[in-house]
Amino acid sequence: MTRTETVDTVPAWGVVGHDWAVALLARALTERHTAHAYLFSGPPGIGKTTLARAFAQALNCEAPPRCGTCRACQLIARDAHPDVRVLARPADKKNLGIEDIKALREEVALKPVEARHKVYLLREAEDLSEPAANALLKTLEEPPPGVVLLLTTCDANLLLPTIVSRCQHFRLRPVPWAAVVAHLEHTCGVPRGEAERLATLSEGQIGWATRAAQEPALLAARQEQAALLETALGSTTLERLRLAADLAERWTTAPASVREALATWRRWWREQLRASLAGQPVAFEAEVCWRALDRVQQAIDDLDANVNARLALEALLLALPRRPGGRHG
Ligand SMILES: [Zn+2]
Repeated sequence: MTRTETVDTVPAWGVVGHDWAVALLARALTERHTAHAYLFSGPPGIGKTTLARAFAQALNCEAPPRCGTCRACQLIARDAHPDVRVLARPADKKNLGIEDIKALREEVALKPVEARHKVYLLREAEDLSEPAANALLKTLEEPPPGVVLLLTTCDANLLLPTIVSRCQHFRLRPVPWAAVVAHLEHTCGVPRGEAERLATLSEGQIGWATRAAQEPALLAARQEQAALLETALGSTTLERLRLAADLAERWTTAPASVREALATWRRWWREQLRASLAGQPVAFEAEVCWRALDRVQQAIDDLDANVNARLALEALLLALPRRPGGRHG
């Protein structure tokens, strides 16, 4: 991708980076052939819920296509509209259970209070328990008129295929770099240079980039994690083993922080790969980046599978390439 492309400063429906999806949904609305169920899939933080909410607004806006300022649009933006319900797994529960879906099914049958469409936004649908997913299927099979179900998930493979097949499926990609920069610069007022730095670290996670622009601690944590990797790439075997031991110890007390560090490392390699493929000057060839990416993913999978953390992290640190000019030994 080139970094000189121009980007609209005011994106349609206020949704950054998914113009094609907004265009398709808008056309379905004007041609009056909206589906009764939609699935928005893609990595975390890229704007799936933002798009779903904007669509709920478009379905019910008092000044179509989607003004963003009428009573319906404002209530929906605050998740306070009586006919637009947002469901997600409670933080203290493992799943969204059958009781939640049963309640939804009873409610779905009632007429809307004031809206044209009753909308149910089910976030992270992969968190549905199996009985809940089966109960939801019944609603998807025969939804009452005027009801629209919107599902989001980070990975459609985690859902029952029968659920996916009953939805119109939008596969969303990370937000393009230039669109993240434009959003940070024009909407959030972030100076150009910083917007570019944040966009690179965000790897298309517009939600993270927007938060990090306001919370420097988020940015600092990600930079620290990247610095740790960059140091390791220039260090000796012994130093790498020490870092693996440190991380393994941290894994026992604060596993989330190790997970975040590895996710940052994965982003770091993807960015190197992207730059390398774009012909920009980077320290590593694309082939080396691919292999490193693979190793980081392997370590993440191993930790998730409860492989001995020290072994998994040592294997990763020893397999990572040495930066040209790095110290041997
Ligand atoms: Zn409106």
